[in-house]
Amino acid sequence: RARDAGGNCYRFFSPAMNLRAHDRLILSSVLGTALASERLRLVYQPQVSPRTGAIHGVEALARWHDSARGEIPPVRFIPLAEESGLIQVLGEWALRLACRQMARWMADDVGIPSVSVNLSARHFREPGLPSMIAGILRETGIPASRLMVEMTESTMIADLDSAIAAARAIRALGVGLSMDDFGTGFSTLANLVNLPLSEVKIDRSFVDGMDRVEESRLIVNAVVGIGRHLGMSIVAEGVETARQLEILDEVGCPAVQGFLISHPLEAEQLPDWVRTWHQSHAASLVRLPVA
Ligand code: C2E
Ligand code: MG
Ligand code: MG
Ligand code: MG
Repeated sequence: RARDAGGNCYRFFSPAMNLRAHDRLILSSVLGTALASERLRLVYQPQVSPRTGAIHGVEALARWHDSARGEIPPVRFIPLAEESGLIQVLGEWALRLACRQMARWMADDVGIPSVSVNLSARHFREPGLPSMIAGILRETGIPASRLMVEMTESTMIADLDSAIAAARAIRALGVGLSMDDFGTGFSTLANLVNLPLSEVKIDRSFVDGMDRVEESRLIVNAVVGIGRHLGMSIVAEGVETARQLEILDEVGCPAVQGFLISHPLEAEQLPDWVRTWHQSHAASLVRLPVA
């Protein structure tokens, strides 16, 4: 049942609860070390236009490789980072690394317009967040328009005023602001209008049902309509089938992200991926039979 709530199930049942308290203690102290070492890294998942195949951007996703435990997925270590107070450290680390990577891609002329970084709700309550982002932009030398930060609707619940203030300050820098997992939180439509968003990401749970469930298709259609009306970019998450891609193109969704396009990639894989992508999908993505 909890799975039916999509990627959002930790709101009701924290995956961290699967671990014994002892394990959690070890993991959170090891996470601190992982942050300081090379065991934590970012992978990047491409986002493209379903109509033209043009590259919209990439989303940076954290990966933790532990020598003893193997790959630990974010759904397990993000809640731990939240509990142990390491989430701000993780957020700053991700912002800096993603911006450095963008500087490299720009120098190599790879053709990736922007990089999106996920930030925790907690981080949006830190008054120092906008100036920290400004500092990283200066340090890495990338234009603000090359960076997007992703927030979720849970950001809004605890302290609406400070979240709106942070959102405005971030947008004032010229950095993009994206609402992640849209449709899984509360008072969602009001948030779209009240926040200075530049992008909305339609949650995978709606994309998933689109080819079978009439309601899902209606919701996707409505969000695309509202987003476009408000001048926002719209990214559909978790696109896995050619049929979903086709429907998203039909309703005018400007960008898609999902395993059908590409799994998240290592930073070094991106230049080759972009080249191959443009060669094989130069004209139109939807009309091609996608394997
Ligand atoms: P998210 O931000 O909604 O990221 C999308 C998740 O969906 C990623 O999972 C991605 O690998 C997965 N995904 C992409 N395409 C598909 C698809 O076609 N099908 C399916 N089934 N899944 C797909 P991942 O990397 O495991 O991350 C899970 C969540 O952990 C993220 O959800 C995000 O909320 C959080 N997260 C990841 N990295 C960070 C980070 O650096 N900081 C923070 N605060 N949170 C992060
Ligand atoms: Mg999600
Ligand atoms: Mg995200
Ligand atoms: Mg998401």
